[in-house]
Amino acid sequence: MAVTYPTGPNGARTIDVAVVGGGPVGAVLALLLADRGRQVVVIERWASPYPLPRAVHFDDETARILQACGIGPVLPVLSEEADTYEWRNGESVPLLRLRTTGMGRSGWPAANMFNQPDLEAELNAKLDEHPLIEIHRGYEVSDVTQGADEVRLTVRPTPGKPAARESDESARPASLQARFAVGCDGANSTVRDILNPPIEDHGFFFDWLIVDVALNTPRVFDPPNLQVCDPARPTTVVSGGPGRRRWEFMCLPGESLDALDEEARAWELLEPWDVGPENATMIRHAGYRFHARWATNWHSDRVFLAGDAAHQTPPFAGQGMCAGLRDAANLAWKLDHVLEHPEASHLLDTYDLERIPHAAAVVGVAMELGKIICVADPGEAAARDAAMAPLVVDGESTPVPPMPSLVDGLLAAGSSCAGELFVQGRVTIDGMTGLFDDLFGVGWRLVAAPDVTSAIPIDIATWFSSIGGRVVTIGPSRDVHDVDGTYAEWFADRGVQAALQRPDFYLFGTTSNADGVAALISELQQRLTGSTSGHAGEESVTNESI
Ligand SMILES: Cc1cc2nc3c(=O)[nH]c(=O)nc-3n(C[C@H](O)[C@H](O)[C@H](O)COP(=O)(O)OP(=O)(O)OC[C@H]3O[C@@H](n4cnc5c(N)ncnc54)[C@H](O)[C@@H]3O)c2cc1C
Repeated sequence: MAVTYPTGPNGARTIDVAVVGGGPVGAVLALLLADRGRQVVVIERWASPYPLPRAVHFDDETARILQACGIGPVLPVLSEEADTYEWRNGESVPLLRLRTTGMGRSGWPAANMFNQPDLEAELNAKLDEHPLIEIHRGYEVSDVTQGADEVRLTVRPTPGKPAARESDESARPASLQARFAVGCDGANSTVRDILNPPIEDHGFFFDWLIVDVALNTPRVFDPPNLQVCDPARPTTVVSGGPGRRRWEFMCLPGESLDALDEEARAWELLEPWDVGPENATMIRHAGYRFHARWATNWHSDRVFLAGDAAHQTPPFAGQGMCAGLRDAANLAWKLDHVLEHPEASHLLDTYDLERIPHAAAVVGVAMELGKIICVADPGEAAARDAAMAPLVVDGESTPVPPMPSLVDGLLAAGSSCAGELFVQGRVTIDGMTGLFDDLFGVGWRLVAAPDVTSAIPIDIATWFSSIGGRVVTIGPSRDVHDVDGTYAEWFADRGVQAALQRPDFYLFGTTSNADGVAALISELQQRLTGSTSGHAGEESVTNESI
């Protein structure tokens, strides 16, 4: 497809958001923005999507974000639920047994194994069919400059792309003008290089060989996901999604990654697992070095970073892409809000405040896991085993700790649970049963037990609905039925009656009475607009599931 933007400084078309990079983070960001009615252009360097597997795990929060992009119905086909993730030493003695089964709070399985290209194919199909998204594959962004009201991007055909004719418009660099631009252009981000933010690099890196395999006949692996903490060759053995297995072998001190990254060597390393060319197909082998680092500033005026462009993590928590999709979910509704209400541009500062500490904490966890796994010294490994093995109790497993909450940003001051990720349960309304977001959509949602929403002052309710807010009262006597008791249990556990959920599913705050509901929405109004409605003495409205 030719790039057809008018290039003149006056008369140039200004789109809402330019997304640089069409990997999973850029694709999700584009879809979340376009679903809110924003016009988005995605510039992707390569003509066809990156075909080789990378991520194999996503969590329930990520699944909910993908649900918001319309991918929910295919997730059960694309992925398989992860069972226990066990860590053993070189003699097969258990060191840690993490329980990953069951539903997470976001209404999806807590851990899901998948093949990244399959997910990206689904996302790409959605990008292609969305009327508000233009995607230009085979073009790269080489420069980004900012004016007072817009960002200008220089877009050129990717060098090495089959040469276009001199006369071909698409062969010439073009300029694209947007209100905002987001660099979702991966670990070697051009946009990050242009913004040049400080980088916090923990210097924690190791080289690993990744081997993805499809077995000719299905086989049961017990445990299905295993970390072998053998100093002779730290190894990861996990599901690679339906029909696939993933092995990862650490490159030992003094060993060359290039020598390890050979097909014959990969088969050799698979031999002890009874996997060979006679019973399996190798999908890929690739050497790579992971890092633990992030930019300490993710935006400059109208240009933002998201995904691997902003942070890179060791793979051991399976969180790199998940963190990137959280960036997209966090940024999408904020850009949408500020496009509608330019005076609320201060909201965009909360992107860094909220996402950087969260992503840094996740990288920190992955790094701690890596320090246990990436041990090639036998003495150090023996000391580790002696400390960890006695803590494993037969037949018991440790639940995976929840992801951190938001600690700063657009959160109600002093409100309990502010910053916590809210639950998603199954609900029934008008005879239809489904996940909450499928029935009520994504946006600001005040989810409340009966009684506390019966008298929201009309001006507050009107302002709330002007930002897409909806009040959903859930309870036995109401139209919305809490099928599995998810909301009743959550409210009872926290001793609250209402929760104000942001469009990215984190809580602005909670309250336990009707006055608190009005105060919570007023505080949100104050934070977004700098003023509140003077509602004293005004009429009230009754809400149920509006
Ligand atoms: C071995 C391995 C295992 C992993 N396991 C997991 C896991 O289990 N769970 C998990 O959550 N994550 C995992 N990850 C991380 C995950 O794959 C990445 O975090 C994720 O792909 C990042 O997505 P992204 O969209 O930010 O970047 P990318 O997927 O890298 O996409 C960036 C895109 O930008 C394009 N681009 C670059 N520069 C330009 C430019 N100048 N102009 C236009 N386009 C450009 C690129 O072509 C690319 O398509 C793993 C990674 C690896 C390598």
